[in-house]
Amino acid sequence: MTTPNHKIRLVMELRRSGVTDTRVLSAIERTPREAFCPPQFLDRAYEDTALPIAHGQTLSAPTVVGLMTQAIDVGARHKVLEVGTGSGYQASVLSLLCRRLYTIERHKPLLADAEARFRELRINNIVSLHGDGWAGWPTQAPFDRIIVTAAPDEVPVALVDQLAVGGLLVLPVGRDKREQRLLRLRKTGQGVQSEELAAVRFVPMVSGMPEDGAADGQRNSA
Ligand code: SAH
Repeated sequence: MTTPNHKIRLVMELRRSGVTDTRVLSAIERTPREAFCPPQFLDRAYEDTALPIAHGQTLSAPTVVGLMTQAIDVGARHKVLEVGTGSGYQASVLSLLCRRLYTIERHKPLLADAEARFRELRINNIVSLHGDGWAGWPTQAPFDRIIVTAAPDEVPVALVDQLAVGGLLVLPVGRDKREQRLLRLRKTGQGVQSEELAAVRFVPMVSGMPEDGAADGQRNSA
């Protein structure tokens, strides 16, 4: 099978940005980003940029997806939780690397579109929930890995509670977009260790559920 040029270029771009884990590079290469793009941006599907989707939300840039996927160091036997399904692209990349991926989205129409894409791509190990990610998914906890793709202003306590001992939680934190930091928390028997990975820009992690059809009024450039 030959790999099209645009995919080769993207993989080179990812490597330049520090994504060196070959499992992550291969998962991104095998995920058709065009299936997650709004039709008017199809020609930009393999550019390394964030793209707007419905409800004022964003499909993250491939390098951001790559760096976050690499940072949570996911394994084939892991049960993983994602908060912020959005287009479903990050979930699809992760689904190739873990046993089961649980994903939560507060905008019902976005979730319905993402679920349709999972079906179309015949991805069978993603389970989704329309809900508020601040509460996590208590009935499915504990999770080996948790990834958050919207920025809360502080680390949600429920997510730390739902992380298995030995588990990793990767999330952007910060009220002000100009001051968001990507953090990695490791839960050990003794407590939680935190390390700062990078400066990032994500849409805010909002509390509560939206009116149907409402946007959150902001757009990210992650
Ligand atoms: N992972 C996505 C990009 C996410 S953009 C992708 O690959 O396309 C962030 C998403 O988080 C948005 O869809 C937004 O609606 C969602 N979100 C924000 N706050 C949330 C909350 N409290 N609970 C669940 N989802 C939330």
